[in-house]
Amino acid sequence: MEPGRADCTRALSPSRAADFMQCPLLYRFRVVDRVPEPPSAAAARGSLVHAVLDRIFDRPAAERTVENAAALVPGEWERMLVEEPDLAELAVEDTCGAADSLLERWFELEDPTRLQPSERELYVEADLDGLVIRGYVDRLDEAPDGRLRVVDYKTGRAPSETFEGRALFQLKFYALALWRTRGVLPSRLQLVYLGDRTVLWIDPTEADLRATERKIRALWSAIEQVAVSGDWRPRRGRACSWCSFQSLCPAWGGTPPPLPEGATRLALDPRSAGSVDSGQEARSAAR
Ligand code: SF4
Repeated sequence: MEPGRADCTRALSPSRAADFMQCPLLYRFRVVDRVPEPPSAAAARGSLVHAVLDRIFDRPAAERTVENAAALVPGEWERMLVEEPDLAELAVEDTCGAADSLLERWFELEDPTRLQPSERELYVEADLDGLVIRGYVDRLDEAPDGRLRVVDYKTGRAPSETFEGRALFQLKFYALALWRTRGVLPSRLQLVYLGDRTVLWIDPTEADLRATERKIRALWSAIEQVAVSGDWRPRRGRACSWCSFQSLCPAWGGTPPPLPEGATRLALDPRSAGSVDSGQEARSAAR
């Protein structure tokens, strides 16, 4: 065991990386304490739209119409309710109605009759010298000549120019995992924002992805230091407004629970708590 390092598997998804960059204490609440969060209308809407955008590609190309997409909404909502009964607290008309309009916007941005994804909801995982990076890619398009396009759907609005880099970090994270495992550098990374009908894209270079790898390693080193010291500090910011943990946060007058047994191990590999990185987790940060 290296000095100052925990002797366990180390794993990171883009959503948890985003949590730590936003606020180390937020990362702790989600990864170490696993404090349950109330159902969020935005997250439920996002999951519903993602599910329909996945299922629509089960249909033959000519049948991928906006009407057929809307027809999938009630069934997917029912399936989500079975998996997460707490979602029943949300107003079904609001959630399904909002999903319908987001899907209509998607049809204005992309034409699924002309798309044939090679993968949907693709789990990617790569080992960076002992640090496992992983996550779910919404859609992977492969051209006849082998070029790869990584596509991610967002149900919110596109970020301002200042925050574009942060939004694209998630896709570079996936691109790095694909490059390391398949040996192919994805030629395009594309974010499709349904909230304001915007498409953001970048054609990454090897230098871009090497820089992403350095950033991930530096971030991981910071997570390890905090995990070993147990010094999970709050970082107040605009995102506190929609943080579920304000009542436990010292920055807002709250008191966090005592650190659980095995906190360092839990902080470095969420799978050690018995759960693998779910699609919900992998997507939740970015919606
Ligand atoms: S309320 Fe703000 S400072 Fe506190 S845990 Fe949440 S994001 Fe961090």
